[in-house]
Amino acid sequence: MKIRSPIVSVLGHVDHGKTTLLDYIRGSGIADKEAGGITQHIGATEIPIATINAICGDFIKKLSIIETIPGLFFIDTPGHAAFTSLRKRGGSLADLAILILDINEGFKPQTFEALNILKMYKTPFIVAANKIDKIFGWESTKGESFLKSFNTQAQSTKQNLENLIYEIVGVLHKEGFQSERFDRVENFGSQVSIIPISAQSGEGIIELIAMLLGLAQEYLTEQLQIEESAPAKGSVLEIKEEIGLGVTIDTIIYDGILKKDDEILLMEKNNILKTKVRSILKPNPLEEIRESKSNFQKIDEVVAAAGVKIVAPNLENVISGSPIRVFKEGENSEEEILNELEEIAIDTDDIGVLVKADTLGSLEAVVNLLKDLDIPIKSADIGDVTRKDIINASIVANEESKYGVIIAFNVKVHSKAEEDLNSSEIKLFQGDVIYQITEDYEDWIKENEEKQKALWMDKIIKPAKFRIIPKLIFRQSKPAISGIEVLSGTVKQGYPIMNQEGIPIGSVESMQDKGDNLPSISKGQKVAMAMKEAIAGKSFEEGDTIYINIPEKHFKILEKEFKNKLSEDEFETLYKIRDINRKTNPEWGELGLFED
Ligand code: GDP
Repeated sequence: MKIRSPIVSVLGHVDHGKTTLLDYIRGSGIADKEAGGITQHIGATEIPIATINAICGDFIKKLSIIETIPGLFFIDTPGHAAFTSLRKRGGSLADLAILILDINEGFKPQTFEALNILKMYKTPFIVAANKIDKIFGWESTKGESFLKSFNTQAQSTKQNLENLIYEIVGVLHKEGFQSERFDRVENFGSQVSIIPISAQSGEGIIELIAMLLGLAQEYLTEQLQIEESAPAKGSVLEIKEEIGLGVTIDTIIYDGILKKDDEILLMEKNNILKTKVRSILKPNPLEEIRESKSNFQKIDEVVAAAGVKIVAPNLENVISGSPIRVFKEGENSEEEILNELEEIAIDTDDIGVLVKADTLGSLEAVVNLLKDLDIPIKSADIGDVTRKDIINASIVANEESKYGVIIAFNVKVHSKAEEDLNSSEIKLFQGDVIYQITEDYEDWIKENEEKQKALWMDKIIKPAKFRIIPKLIFRQSKPAISGIEVLSGTVKQGYPIMNQEGIPIGSVESMQDKGDNLPSISKGQKVAMAMKEAIAGKSFEEGDTIYINIPEKHFKILEKEFKNKLSEDEFETLYKIRDINRKTNPEWGELGLFED
């Protein structure tokens, strides 16, 4: 058994300083301070514990974890796309995370997204409140400890910082996390530490690293134990074509040992690939790149945690985020990878949305979010949006339009598919913030429902009544024509009508005012109305009130869905109409037990 370095990822909103922080950690900022420096991996940087000891000194001397872990292993690709694609069974490959934000801007969409993803994977994290050097009045000292630098600031500058920290504490509280500035944290288990830093000046980085160790000690014990001689397990960060090497994979190995000539298992889209490691490469130190003109150095074996490039045949169709396993005869690594596949395999519905994402991990994250929102999924796939996707979405749209959409995370649309998309009704929801995409989709559904309702509302016969004006009956029958005045609501051409007793007397044939035909008239308007089938003196008398004969079904829909869309007097008339009908049918308009 060996203890490996905790794997650390950096997440946060674009431009909040992920890359600058990693550059600082990787670059001269830390390395210069100690001969041990840092170790460069493919896709990762490791700070050995000796270096950490030298730079953090007093901050970490009480932590027992420094006796056991070899260092901290930072994934160099920042952002949550990388975080989610670096998956292992049951969660993220990162043991710890730094959620970075610009202290002056606070939480942004991708900060929330990152937080949600950390929640989903239950990854312990600290918050780096970056760019403190931009706080009004701040005087920077390069590479200084935060606390030392803070103590030299003017009182008002200190207050500015405290206020900004409390805003972060407030947002985190709403999101369900207790948090505090790191030096006031009493319990690492229940409180998230906020470390004010400047990734540019390096202020606070010492404490940031110390806090990561504290977090590791709090949360990671068993997780870091690896069997040095066990077949390697890892995750594919990227598939890369390299000049002279062909298609290679950049991988992070989190368990066991990987050797040249090992047989490895990887995932293709619908298939498991078994191939043989031709060479394992690690990056050459800078000075040697100049001499050997090669960026890489061949090694025979590597033990976790490590980031290496693998050269092997047939890697073209491996998917990013794929697990990688060393195959051992007699061991069930094939089964294991199949189990893993099954875990990722997404239960799909007959009718549902189409999901496309760039990596296995991000696909999983999108699918999880959609499931939380109860949105059914027809299919979920890795890769760009193709014509076939649009055809498939159209098939769904024919059944249920609101699900005939494509949810696309971090992928492009093929140019041919673009044309199809433009000429089809299919909506594409696309972006690089998962919850932004789903929010857009939900808004669109709501908008559509409103539109649908409006269409419906338009077709429904609504309550209204009018009066036969005395001495203005112009014609007895076929059709009966009389002057009328609308007492409530809106009367439309074609509406069925009834008298006060609830007896149907025909329908509105046409309405005229000063020679103009009016399709619809409202309360207060007086017109000449032709009534189909009605007979003056028999169906109605002068001065009678005539009601719109609302079909029972329309009444029920109005009562259930559109009550709030009626004016007060329409509302009254609606119930008057019901009461009239109930004279002959006491159950008229009652909602049946099984109706909805
Ligand atoms: P990313 O998109 O999260 O990787 O952000 P970057 O690391 O690329 O940073 C975005 C911009 O902010 C760059 O111009 C950086 O130089 C700048 N930046 C990052 N960290 C700091 C900092 O601590 N202080 C200041 N003043 N600028 C910073």
